[in-house]
Amino acid sequence: MSTQRFPVARPSLSGLEERYVLDAVRSGWISSQGPYLQRFEAEFAERVGATTAVATSNGTVALHLVLAAAGVGPGDEVIVPALTYVATANAVRYCGARPVCVDVSADTWCVDPERVRAAVGPRTRAVLAVDLYGHPADYPALRAICDRHGLLLVADAAESFGATLHGRPTGSLADATTFSFFGNKIVTSGEGGCVTTSDPALADRMRLLRNQGMDPQRRYFFPEVGFNYRLTNVCAALLCAQLARADDILARRDAVLRGYERELADAVRLRPQPVAAGARRAPWMASFLVDGAPGTRDELARGLDRLGVETRPFFVPIPRLPPYADDTAAIPVSVDLGRRGLNLPTYPELTDTDVKVISERVRQALATVA
Ligand SMILES: *Cc1c(COP(=O)(O)O)cnc(C)c1O
Repeated sequence: MSTQRFPVARPSLSGLEERYVLDAVRSGWISSQGPYLQRFEAEFAERVGATTAVATSNGTVALHLVLAAAGVGPGDEVIVPALTYVATANAVRYCGARPVCVDVSADTWCVDPERVRAAVGPRTRAVLAVDLYGHPADYPALRAICDRHGLLLVADAAESFGATLHGRPTGSLADATTFSFFGNKIVTSGEGGCVTTSDPALADRMRLLRNQGMDPQRRYFFPEVGFNYRLTNVCAALLCAQLARADDILARRDAVLRGYERELADAVRLRPQPVAAGARRAPWMASFLVDGAPGTRDELARGLDRLGVETRPFFVPIPRLPPYADDTAAIPVSVDLGRRGLNLPTYPELTDTDVKVISERVRQALATVA
């Protein structure tokens, strides 16, 4: 049997990335100005159906930048899903505001609009939805709640580049949408991020705060405290190449997800990610739920590691993390998914044969768990 090890994620880099980066280096534009930055912001905005993209140094600061630009501050509450990457809640804290964690829906793994509605209070300023494991949140329902209460709707689409809901791409479904271009994301510059919006005032405000708060009309005059959240032209060069290849990257990742779902369709105890009507999920990481007693998922992960397959457990719900500890939070779905969810290796270079080999190892490991 082959002993090849499979990592859970790997960036897909080609000769095009090499060429663009070399071009950026040779041009001398390696800092946070340059032609690749302008090109990337224009092309990315167009691709996701927004008027503006504001590139940032990573996806976490993209979240902070939106909330800061919208004026979220101490005393405010922002509704977030209980099941997400920690950056979503941290960004709210950076503003001095309080993240209010609500449970996700078992049908989408994204924030449950009914629970959002119930969580809105006098201090609520925004709803920050997350497209968990590539599945778009229920934006039409969230939009209705936000409009009714005058709340900002922000989408954390770090994991969902390429997803659509009723034909509309993530990036255009909320008042502002953030993306991450970390090394394990669908398109990457190693570290990087951006915010897309079609609100010109919000975009201007984000550009100002991204650049240390400097007055655009008066160099080195800083009317307020801003941040250095700029992206470099070298990273933008990588991203221009990734965008040029995005359709191929997405198609190949899609094939990997469909391959696992086909190969593992009759595997006992494994349930694939549900996809809601009208949603096209982004193929970020193949995601399955493992049925069984507590600990079964971890046992399976250990078995797979021994067989040379790296996996990832789902996120620990935010209210189960020390900085946000809240034993009273009613989040049964998030807790259940957090215990049972497992990601399998997903990257474009996996061949159909690799997917078969990994699936066979999954069956083998499943046969040995209690
Ligand atoms: C990756 C990710 C982010 C931000 O990540 P960075 O590493 O800061 O680029 C934010 N939210 C979610 C849901 C993510 O998966």
